Amino acid sequence: MAKNDDQFKKVISHAKEYGYVFQSSEIYDGLSAVYDYAQNGVELKKNIRDYWWKAMVQMNENIVGIDAAIFMHPTTWKASGHVDAFNDPLIDNKDSKKRYRADVLIEDYVGKLDTKIEKEVAKAAKRFGDAFDKAQFLATNPRVLQYKEKGAAILKRMGQSLEKEDLADVKALIEELGIACPESGSKNWTDVKQFNLMFGTKLGASADSAMDLYLRPETAQGIFVNFLNVQKTGRLKIPFGIAQTGKAFRNEIVARQFIFRMREFEQMEMQFFIKPGTQQEWYEHWKEARMKWHLSLGMGEDNYRFHDHEKLAHYADAAADIEFRFPFGFKELEGIHSRTDFDLSQHEEFSGKKLQYFDHEENKSYVPYVLETSIGLDRMFLAVFSNSLKEEELENGTTRVVLKLPAVLAPTKAAVLPLVKKDGLPEVARKIVDDLKWDFNVAYDEKDAVGRRYRRQDAAGTPFCITVDHDTLEDNSVTIRHRDTMEQKRVKIEELRAIIKQEVDMRSWLMKM
Ligand code: ATP
Repeated sequence: MAKNDDQFKKVISHAKEYGYVFQSSEIYDGLSAVYDYAQNGVELKKNIRDYWWKAMVQMNENIVGIDAAIFMHPTTWKASGHVDAFNDPLIDNKDSKKRYRADVLIEDYVGKLDTKIEKEVAKAAKRFGDAFDKAQFLATNPRVLQYKEKGAAILKRMGQSLEKEDLADVKALIEELGIACPESGSKNWTDVKQFNLMFGTKLGASADSAMDLYLRPETAQGIFVNFLNVQKTGRLKIPFGIAQTGKAFRNEIVARQFIFRMREFEQMEMQFFIKPGTQQEWYEHWKEARMKWHLSLGMGEDNYRFHDHEKLAHYADAAADIEFRFPFGFKELEGIHSRTDFDLSQHEEFSGKKLQYFDHEENKSYVPYVLETSIGLDRMFLAVFSNSLKEEELENGTTRVVLKLPAVLAPTKAAVLPLVKKDGLPEVARKIVDDLKWDFNVAYDEKDAVGRRYRRQDAAGTPFCITVDHDTLEDNSVTIRHRDTMEQKRVKIEELRAIIKQEVDMRSWLMKM
């Protein structure tokens, strides 16, 4: 645990030091759970968004994108159920005065059981050596099975209690498990209460005529209210999808995991409209397709897992999360939800407008069912960034810090470095930058010894360094150095574009899906 905490601290400070993420309004001591993306962060974030958009919208003939406004008619949120049910169960510790999400306290307890299982696996792997069969061990070891059963029973009970709004039982569960305040160790808890997460605001100049609005807590509703307009103008046939990326706002109760849980964040969502009765098939399809998208980035199969929901949201008939191994353990990265016809039916009822699709094959109208994929862009950023940050021991006994971002996502694809600041080398380097910048985001760096410049680019995540030296003036060749292998090769200037393209091109990455 301590090692993980340490790693997480390194992630946060590296994100600041290398211009990725800053605390918002830092000069005023910051604003809790609100962050700004800096010069490198904005590029990484954009590249993740583009990678998603390419895979979801541009590579699928039957999926289109929109960009709906953040403000929506307030009735939207009555229809969607957010006014009545977008709550988190909160609990306060009477001694430390700290506030927690009751469900998160319980999930963290179960997370500790998972850690115990991992420890048992590691111990057994060491004991049995090459003969170790992990799958068999997980399926048969009595201690592992006991932890698993305990965890499952706890989550089941919590799910059922939340479903029934039995908040007294949620508190009872916290007490029975002996969960203490992580800050103070105290077990002196208040009752569990519901807390609505939407931010309210007002539209209009005068106090009497002003209209109460909400900042949208999810982008999905902007898609549902536009369903018919998009379907008609795009002449789309079921099954088809509408995707959108954009800001969402939630007044989160506890938000202390950097950009994992923010009060202002960005979502990338896709609603897939289908024929009623086909939801199971599409649910499986999108679970698999989304996992493949994640795996295409090469961040390690072991770092992902599915978590099927015990407690289903009011709108869902099946739901699973794709969880990622963050520095603080496995947590939700993306949700895949089978939403039935809940959303469109609700909007039909509240708006009085028909939101149906005429199916020519069936010769009848119906309210389509919906399959949703919903991922937090900031969470994906944290997954990529934390997984890429490595400290490596080198052969000469020194260490280097390297940000091994998937090259397709790296903010800067190459840095061009004149070996010295004279003899015409900077001019040649500038010319290379001017040529490459049409295709890639490239940087120029002439300060400090070249070894230091390499380290700086390694830490910033730049996949290639291109060095211009005196030989370049003679033979038009440069040294290209690879961030991950540190291998250096002599190549012709005119070859650079093709070499870089091969590694950073979205096509070759997405082809791995
Ligand atoms: P959690 O249980 O972590 O609060 P959720 O189940 O409420 O998340 P959804 O409503 O399904 O999340 O939202 C879809 C995705 O949006 C999540 O998988 C997550 O990646 C992202 N997300 C949700 N809330 C936040 C937040 N406060 N900050 C950053 N990303 C978020």
